[in-house]
Amino acid sequence: MARWFAEAEAVVVLTGAGISTESGIPDFRGPQGVWTKNPAAQFMFTYQNYLADPEVRKQAWQARLASPVWTAEPNAGHRALADYERTGRLRAVLTQNIDGLHQAAGSSPELVVELHGTAREVVCLDCGDQNPMPGTLPRIEAGEEDPACLECGGILKSATISFGQELLPEVIEAAVAATRGADLFVAIGTSLGVYPAAGLCDYAIAHGTRLVVLNAEPTPYDEDASAVLRQPIGEVLPRLVQAASPV
Ligand SMILES: [Zn+2]
Repeated sequence: MARWFAEAEAVVVLTGAGISTESGIPDFRGPQGVWTKNPAAQFMFTYQNYLADPEVRKQAWQARLASPVWTAEPNAGHRALADYERTGRLRAVLTQNIDGLHQAAGSSPELVVELHGTAREVVCLDCGDQNPMPGTLPRIEAGEEDPACLECGGILKSATISFGQELLPEVIEAAVAATRGADLFVAIGTSLGVYPAAGLCDYAIAHGTRLVVLNAEPTPYDEDASAVLRQPIGEVLPRLVQAASPV
């Protein structure tokens, strides 16, 4: 596998929550996952409920304020991908994560495609005004329960994709464009159970791209993968990257 990492000329990685758990950010579907422990949460925080119910927005703002994202540091897995970028072989980091830790680890922002948006930005659902989240959180700390857009009074939300909300077409296009013609597709820390992650794997397989799965739990793509690794991401990814890097 180290040879594949060293010889591939256009590598695309797809990362999910599993790469950030070692940074203290809980995943969703793992044994200690947010939704495993509280399945009702995913049905409550839908886009439609968020729009309709101020109480849902109030709870969502409290959750944003308390989010582990604000104190999380990138881990060895994130840093390994930033290192791998220097070999010139890494074409894109497609991520389902909203924590911004790839960029924090040194991955070039233009290589990172945030499929589900980012928790680090806030967007107005009416006028589209977008700002860094840390500008809005002090309003919650100061007692506002459901802060309105300062431009138009509209509903504010993190710039993330919620249940019931469509992914941005341009983001999907960027992910497919990166996967097109790649010779190695590495799925890291994702259960590959949902769109678009599953669709990107199908696309890679259909176009003869070698698929590697690095995930603690089994995925629906393990049988199609050229290799499957179950070891902790923060241990195995740095070793693969090191073996692939010129010394
Ligand atoms: Zn607005």
